[in-house]
Amino acid sequence: MDKTLKDKANVDQSELEKFNQLAHNWWDPESQFKPLHDINPLRLNYIDRLSGLSGKDVLDVGCGGGILSESMAARGANVTGIDLGDKPLKVAKLHLLESGNKVNYRKVAVEDLAKEQPNHYDVVTCMEMLEHVPDPESIIHSCAQLTKPGGWTFFSTLNRNPKSYLMAVVGAEYILNLLPRGTHDYIKFIKPSELARMARGAKLEMEAITGMTYNPFTKVYSLGKDSSVNYIMVYRA
Ligand code: SAH
Repeated sequence: MDKTLKDKANVDQSELEKFNQLAHNWWDPESQFKPLHDINPLRLNYIDRLSGLSGKDVLDVGCGGGILSESMAARGANVTGIDLGDKPLKVAKLHLLESGNKVNYRKVAVEDLAKEQPNHYDVVTCMEMLEHVPDPESIIHSCAQLTKPGGWTFFSTLNRNPKSYLMAVVGAEYILNLLPRGTHDYIKFIKPSELARMARGAKLEMEAITGMTYNPFTKVYSLGKDSSVNYIMVYRA
């Protein structure tokens, strides 16, 4: 890629490299991806309950190995999954052979897809990805552009406060070893008020927010009011 173009792209190559290195483990529910496997039924049911996935055109932005993409396809959605990591996408495509699910995986920046398919999707999901990009606002704007008027946009990310630092960095990476050290960069965590401001700028209307919590003693994840660490924000375009 031409250097000026590369500099402009909204991607942090070292972040992509982290996921490339681990991608072969993506579908191992006991691997570093265990938290994504564990939260998936919760977020899938939540998305499905609000938006009604069956028969919908759905875009999963930063889909990785496809845990959420495949589960939405299994609920009857017509799913496109995009990511800029080569290995996660390769793993995602290979896994379809095993599962028999159908997902259209593409390596394309969300900003480019927004130009190609404006107002195209009934539902756009962008989960656990905003905290890994240089310019989350640009991703949020593109997700908004890709959503049909009246359609649904879901974002999940990590809140930024002392508790989220303790739980998501110190706890998950250093004490419980749930995630490899260096997975998350605290400075890139996003407060709900910041996400709300960026979404308002993209003309999205807020519908709901829900927290996702992990109890390290029972090892159980749940959705609820506590959005101090991990949360999902729901919008209508
Ligand atoms: N959304 C998935 C995967 C989350 S892991 C899930 O929740 O199950 C974060 C993913 O974001 C990785 O697959 C990584 O390759 C991808 N990613 C990081 N920066 C990106 C960018 N700028 N554009 C697209 N994908 C990106």
